[in-house]
Amino acid sequence: MSNWETVIGLEVHVQLATASKLFSGAPNRFGAEANRQASAVDLGLPGVLPVLNEAVVHMALRFGLAVEAQISPLTQFARKNYFYPDLPKGYQISQLDHPIIGPGRLEIVVGDQAKTIGITRAHLEEDAGKSIHDQLPGLTAVDLNRAGTPLLEIVSEPDMRSAAEAVAYLRELHAIVRDLGISDGNMNEGSMRCDANVSIRPRGERTLGTRTEIKNLNSFRFLEKAIEFEVERQIEVLEGGGRIHQETRLYDAQRNETRSMRSKEEAEDYRYFPDPDLLPVAITPKMIAEVARSMPELPRARRQRFCEQYGLSEYDARQVAADRATAAYFETCVAIAEDPKLTANWVMGELASILNRDELGIEASPVPAAALGTLIARIRDATISSKIAKTVFDIMVAEGGEPDAIIEARGLRQMSDSGELERLVDEVIAANPAQVEQFRAGKTKLLGFFVGQVMKATGGKANPQQLNDLLRGRLDGGG
Ligand code: ADP
Ligand code: MG
Repeated sequence: MSNWETVIGLEVHVQLATASKLFSGAPNRFGAEANRQASAVDLGLPGVLPVLNEAVVHMALRFGLAVEAQISPLTQFARKNYFYPDLPKGYQISQLDHPIIGPGRLEIVVGDQAKTIGITRAHLEEDAGKSIHDQLPGLTAVDLNRAGTPLLEIVSEPDMRSAAEAVAYLRELHAIVRDLGISDGNMNEGSMRCDANVSIRPRGERTLGTRTEIKNLNSFRFLEKAIEFEVERQIEVLEGGGRIHQETRLYDAQRNETRSMRSKEEAEDYRYFPDPDLLPVAITPKMIAEVARSMPELPRARRQRFCEQYGLSEYDARQVAADRATAAYFETCVAIAEDPKLTANWVMGELASILNRDELGIEASPVPAAALGTLIARIRDATISSKIAKTVFDIMVAEGGEPDAIIEARGLRQMSDSGELERLVDEVIAANPAQVEQFRAGKTKLLGFFVGQVMKATGGKANPQQLNDLLRGRLDGGG
């Protein structure tokens, strides 16, 4: 183990899935033609006033309840002043002193270790526009469609101790905001992005080391890689007698390295002050109670329910209850299959590997949940063996169709006629006297050979258990 301890805190920006923007009626949608979704408010034209979108407040409260956070009775917006071409007002409306969501917490699981990560705060802010450098030769273009898009910035305590913990935390946040329906969590489109603050300190040391901040990581893998690289880099600097500078760094995925971008601004540099255009917002207990009534089941509660209701292990429950879509698929499937463990194995095994291969979400699974449930039920009632089930599954993936119809049409039913099976066993034994002798002399591994021979003769349709019993009886019994 290294002599250095890694310390990580994450700032996660979640784009809220509202119909309109944070302070204007312009649509909040990705991918429109440039500057067609920016109103006078988003353009920062003089003489217009921002009006708070109430839906945003509700979404923030849903998040706050999900992470058991304190909720500010009075929340306030502030101006964060800086100049940039894609920020026409010259300031971003954000929150500083009275964020809507105060301290909360989130449980993560790494390996089989559960751990609680502190959430410092979550505040509302508007996104900026986009500067585009590669469309007009020699010029920079500005697209203000994104200006004014509502963001919830979730800041964690420096509680994570490895890249794996940071990834687990981000995954859990991702699942929660999707379950809450407050964001699509689409990382490719920037609906969820993350800044990682990373420092190291000698093991046992209590005070924190100087941190760097890696900006705008937009995938779980980049988060992991960027932290791993940055930790190695900091170790090298410190062990070489140097010191870490507090700075903002960029992760270059192509080269898998972080590079210095600029030294870090302090809050004072932004001359924050309360926005005089926006009144403080009172969050009443009644509003909170209303939001509480509409809360869905969240990943952690669902995992617990899956353990209790289906008798799944923690590990299996974590896999199939990870997100709502997978959980729904599992529950439809298991209602028909009536075997939770076997169903979990199929969903996380055969099904997951097909979905991975074809890069599909489970919502778009080529095999519907009910069909997989029926297939598993046929293993359970011994119509087919697990091995034949895989064949049927492959056909369902490639051609569609119901498992029962496929089993009948292709004659894949397990042999139920034990007289027929006995006859084949006897034939195989008679045809292989040398192997029979070796088996009886103690080379019992040869059982597999006999099983294989009979399976071949039946086209894989013998009931494996029945076949095993028959063979053992014949071979041991000397018959
Ligand atoms: P800002 O980046 O805007 O200055 P903060 O000072 O509140 O904001 O810190 C931002 C993030 O950095 C938080 O997630 C916090 O947990 C994390 N952080 C602060 N100090 C350290 C440190 N020494 N090492 C790692 N992370 C840290
Ligand atoms: Mg920061």
